[in-house]
Amino acid sequence: MDRRDLLADERGTLYKEAELRVALVYPSPYRAAMSSLGYQQIYRTLHGMPGVAADRAMLPDEGAPERGLVTLETGQPVGGYPVLAYSVAYELEIAGVVETLERSNIPVLVKDRERRHPLVIAGGPLTFSNPAPLAPFFDVILLGEGEETVKELMEIGRDVGFDRERVWAALAGKPGYYLPHLHGETVPPVAQAADELLPARSVIATPHTELSDMFMTEAARGCSRGCTYCVMRRSTNGGMRIVPRETIIAGIPAGTRRVGLVGAAVTDHPDIAAIVRDVVDGGREVGISSLRADKLTDELVGLLARGGYRTLTVAADGASERMRRVVERSTRAEHLINSAKFAATHRLHTLKVYMMLGVPGETDADVDELVQLSKELAAIHPRVAYGLAPFVAKRNTPLDGTPFAGIPLVEARLARLDKGLRAAGLSDKVKVRPTSARWAWVEYMIAQGESRAGLAIMDAHKAGGSFAAYKKAFAAHDVQPTGPRARVPSSQELIALKRQRLATL
Ligand code: SF4
Repeated sequence: MDRRDLLADERGTLYKEAELRVALVYPSPYRAAMSSLGYQQIYRTLHGMPGVAADRAMLPDEGAPERGLVTLETGQPVGGYPVLAYSVAYELEIAGVVETLERSNIPVLVKDRERRHPLVIAGGPLTFSNPAPLAPFFDVILLGEGEETVKELMEIGRDVGFDRERVWAALAGKPGYYLPHLHGETVPPVAQAADELLPARSVIATPHTELSDMFMTEAARGCSRGCTYCVMRRSTNGGMRIVPRETIIAGIPAGTRRVGLVGAAVTDHPDIAAIVRDVVDGGREVGISSLRADKLTDELVGLLARGGYRTLTVAADGASERMRRVVERSTRAEHLINSAKFAATHRLHTLKVYMMLGVPGETDADVDELVQLSKELAAIHPRVAYGLAPFVAKRNTPLDGTPFAGIPLVEARLARLDKGLRAAGLSDKVKVRPTSARWAWVEYMIAQGESRAGLAIMDAHKAGGSFAAYKKAFAAHDVQPTGPRARVPSSQELIALKRQRLATL
């Protein structure tokens, strides 16, 4: 769509005359950008600063003509802004960074830029795990929660100018910033924003996202649980910070038709049922970003059904009871069975369950157990869907460094599950929607890689961005996973790891 058509369909777009204009760039298309609460929060934060405005730019949709990148609000070329601020959510978006820089006529690599080029900074969810592959492209990387550091950086830029050398000198030693020229491969700790800055709330509503016209508001930040594969676990930024019910409800603008409650573990909010009731009693639809099966109740699912839910989506993550224990996921088979019962009672169309395959220590028997569980679920609810993703070890988690299970193994487990479901006559009732094992391997190589992985992404993108191009580029740049373990840990090692972690709590 043309930028004018997109703007015409938006509500809440911010326009402002300002001395300093920042190009706020998202390295995925509009639909994904406008579904990101973090991106919208930084948009709000920058606009809230006197004399500062933020104009959005996104990766054009696939097949868009090769021409320069302009911002939505002004139509001005991104390359003419003094500062480009990127929000990067996950590893496979880094190719979008390369493409948007190319389209902006800015040298992709920091080392090739001159003083006349803009300052290029990044933040976003990826910085919680491994921002090292971003290093070749960015002058400054804001780590973790960016509400305060982005303001500090803008103030510094206004004081000293947005000249990279002067900004580097002013930021050296300050917490919350990764300065690749100074820190190399050693990434400093992430920043935590003040509690008073919560909740993040969306600014713009648009029909052109997955969450069509939904007002998003943070219900909690972080998580108090300890799943061993998860970057947002309790050890990150002090665990779960809860937004009071009254604050959430008072912040919903009049006339809002759909409300999205956002957070890593929203159903762990102590007042979740009351909050959802407040939303739906006001005649609004509701969405929740993270339903935990062990927190569902008949009352809550009934409220969700009243609030427009058609699919009840929960995460189980491990394929079997044993694997869920290995990753310290508190969901049990009984919780999934209860979820199916609630979904059936309240006539929800589908029960969707997220699972991981290729978790360390997993065997064929774990997949067979999933087939057995599928029989029980399908006997309760006629439409079950599994979203299956291969396990990818992330930095800053206890399972950091665990090797990728291997594309053939993940594909073999998927085939086994498929065969088991067919043999049980469940093909029509239980649908399997897997994510590609090949691209999960690419994600793994980046998630576990150093800055060289960024150079490989750039080369792979320039070579067409196929899986073969990535494979070749990783080999050419000698990209190697560099986490603390070089093999799958044994069960005893996992137990020792657990003890070690308990001792540090
Ligand atoms: S996977 Fe979910 S429940 Fe587990 S630690 Fe992460 S956010 Fe919390």
